[in-house]
Amino acid sequence: MEPTRERVIIIGSGPAGLTAAIYTARASLEPLVIEGEPSSTSDQPGGQLMLTTEVENFPGFPDGIMGPELMMNFRSQAERFGAKFLTEKVTNIDFSSRPFKVWVRDTEYHADSIIVSTGARSLMLGLEEEQRLIGHGLSTCATCDGFFFRDQHIAVVGGGDSAIEEASFLTKFASKVTLIHRRDEFRASKIMQDRAFANPKIDVLWNHTVTKINGDDKVDGIEVTNTVDGSISTMPVTGLFVAIGHRPNTDLFAGVLDMDDAGYLQTQPDSSYTNIEGVFACGDVQDHTYRQAITAAGSGCMAAIDSERWLEGQH
Ligand code: NAP
Repeated sequence: MEPTRERVIIIGSGPAGLTAAIYTARASLEPLVIEGEPSSTSDQPGGQLMLTTEVENFPGFPDGIMGPELMMNFRSQAERFGAKFLTEKVTNIDFSSRPFKVWVRDTEYHADSIIVSTGARSLMLGLEEEQRLIGHGLSTCATCDGFFFRDQHIAVVGGGDSAIEEASFLTKFASKVTLIHRRDEFRASKIMQDRAFANPKIDVLWNHTVTKINGDDKVDGIEVTNTVDGSISTMPVTGLFVAIGHRPNTDLFAGVLDMDDAGYLQTQPDSSYTNIEGVFACGDVQDHTYRQAITAAGSGCMAAIDSERWLEGQH
């Protein structure tokens, strides 16, 4: 069977990809969104918001909205204007000639332009209970969820700038924040460390890892293990923030699209252009600074406009 030829293929369906879908659909480009696989935790359709509960900082929802509901709204809005969806994962790409080629297992798709919005994932501790408790006291985003922990004792895992930044931010709400680090010194910059040490609401538990999160439907204490002597103890926290780094979902594009040392796609300043003409990138896959649904959505809009104008210029 001849591969279908699309004007735009959008890879990934978080706020960036779906906003790009809304805009390109409204420009009559009938985008094909390859939205990811439901079974996957790192690139599930809808992106990281599918792993959260209430979203209170997305403008336009004064009473807040559940993350999955927000993403379903994005999706229906794109569908209404003619976006097509494939609930699969892209398995291979070839951007070396036009039309660009994208494979989902053995099926080949062709496209005049591509928008990459595959997002990033938070690194997790690898505990079995993380899947169950994410969004229920377990979080990877202080900006998103800190507000829910007013006057509570919470813990943050990690020893880099992110962990200290999250811990400092969380002291606006929490009564106490314990930073848990697996070694006896932080990796974070000196200025960030000094800020944490000077904050009376932050204490540090050195040489410990979190080995179990208690609670059936919400976090109810954690088990920590001493990395020096192996002793185990419990901490009665009601919230746990994992801040041990992020990884962009860019394996598919290695050696093809320009990336920084951490694997984030590089886009040209003030645009969504990648190093390959006709291939655009938006959202967390190219942003390690802001990582918000609203900024991802904004960059998805940019990618849609960039691709639409670029396509127009091709004829
Ligand atoms: P990071 O620098 O890679 O730090 C990750 C931390 O998590 C490390 O302390 C590491 O411990 C710990 N860790 C990793 N895996 C773990 C595990 N399985 N269990 C327990 N602990 C684990 O990541 P990041 O803090 O997200 O920062 C990423 C980059 O963004 C850095 O370049 C950072 O400077 C930058 N950043 C800057 C700012 C700012 O300037 N405002 C804010 C955030 C991030 P070890 O130290 O033992 O390896």
